[in-house]
Amino acid sequence: MQNDTIAAIATPPGVGGIGMVRISGTDAFEMALPLLRRPGGHSDVPPSHQLTYGHIVDPTTQEVLDEVLVAFMRAPHTYTREDVVEIQGHGGPLVLQRILRVVLAQGVRMANPGEFTLRAFLNGRLDLAQAEAVMDLIGSQTEAGLRLAMQQLQGKLSTQVQEARHAVLGVIARIEASIDFPEEEVPIPQPDELRPLITEALQQIESLLAGAQQGRLYRQGLRTAIIGRPNVGKSSLLNALLRSERAIVTPIAGTTRDTVEEVANLRGIPLHLIDTAGITPTADPVEQIGVQRSRAAAESADVVLFVFDGAETLTEMDQRVSDELQVMGFGGQAGSENLSSKHKRPVVLVMNKADCPQRLEIDELQRMWPGAAVLKTSTLTGQGLLELEATIADLVQAGKIVQSDSVLITSARHQEALRRATEHLRAAFDSLEQALPLDFVSIDLRAAYEALGEVTGETASEDLLDRIFSEFCIGK
Ligand code: GDP
Ligand code: ZN
Repeated sequence: MQNDTIAAIATPPGVGGIGMVRISGTDAFEMALPLLRRPGGHSDVPPSHQLTYGHIVDPTTQEVLDEVLVAFMRAPHTYTREDVVEIQGHGGPLVLQRILRVVLAQGVRMANPGEFTLRAFLNGRLDLAQAEAVMDLIGSQTEAGLRLAMQQLQGKLSTQVQEARHAVLGVIARIEASIDFPEEEVPIPQPDELRPLITEALQQIESLLAGAQQGRLYRQGLRTAIIGRPNVGKSSLLNALLRSERAIVTPIAGTTRDTVEEVANLRGIPLHLIDTAGITPTADPVEQIGVQRSRAAAESADVVLFVFDGAETLTEMDQRVSDELQVMGFGGQAGSENLSSKHKRPVVLVMNKADCPQRLEIDELQRMWPGAAVLKTSTLTGQGLLELEATIADLVQAGKIVQSDSVLITSARHQEALRRATEHLRAAFDSLEQALPLDFVSIDLRAAYEALGEVTGETASEDLLDRIFSEFCIGK
């Protein structure tokens, strides 16, 4: 399976100016050549890495399918490190499918999702973290996310993980040499000698893990539920937050009338805004569905914007929504609370309709949610919206990170593997402290070494590879 020749449409579905069919594998040239009719009737392989003009012709019927530019690219300087042919035709779905069909009829196999990138990995052009970065790059929703994906693609994360891995290997080698050789030749290493080596590797990994929470925010975004009783201005606030941003990303498909999710760009962090129908108990079955949805939205949110109508006094409904949120474990303090802390997720209190005569006191809200930030906004005049954005940004300390050049862990998989590595290193350290035989220390060091290798793919199982590459789209 590994070396057969594969093909797929590499451009997105739909109509476009140009569309591309990509072929990769040992027989790519041989299978593509008979399909290409060139002016002057040339039939030799065109020069590598240059565009060749011609027509794609169905070899059985001689029908001309499209006018194309074709690049024949000789291994190893290609995306997959195999021979690659890229046929650039007109970007209609039907045209591209017909080209793909005659390519497949030559005996080429249809590529699986991510299979081109999988080959780039298997052929050593990319390590696993870099291959995953390709997917992140394509899916990036903000420039900061894009920058992080690009860093990872360039191997910055891989380099740091390799350094830590190398450090661990050094300790293993030191211990095992003493087991394999007589003591006169290789003296048994002393705990004092090993301890700082383990600590150093541990620190390297911990500094990578330190940025994981923020890194994942840049990739996955911050889930922000807008909650409050009907008519306080939730939908207006959602629209105001979207409008006030330069870069608005596409709405998310599959949203319902009851909850709407949109993505705004908050200083580089994709802000997933979820407008809900309000968590108010109701007898109406249709409204009940809405209530359940907003409850679910709140459950899964990183932050809640709890909206009140400043032009009215507090109602019993406000109180009930408030009680529900407290039961769900909200109530962290804006600005001070780290989002990673498990216990309290932050609530930002929004007193909307600040343009109207006010009948609600800030004190009342502060008593209800001690320590939470309270902001006055008007979606009509725009008052308070910048402050609201700043408050949300402070929750994730956004401004600071965008400028920094440090490598951030964006993937839960990487985070998990690195965390396992630190656990084993700590266990190795403890065994050393307890003066256990060096074999015990060595077992944990090896486990840490393996865990680190999973990030870059040296020790990734086939299952893991399948799981990762199946998330790619076909043609990538
Ligand atoms: P939701 O039910 O909480 O989503 O509330 P909507 O966003 O649908 O707004 C309810 C009503 O309040 C609408 O008539 C809005 O025009 C109005 N509204 C929303 N925000 C403001 C505001 O800041 N000032 C004023 N005066 N009216 C507002
Ligand atoms: Zn609404």
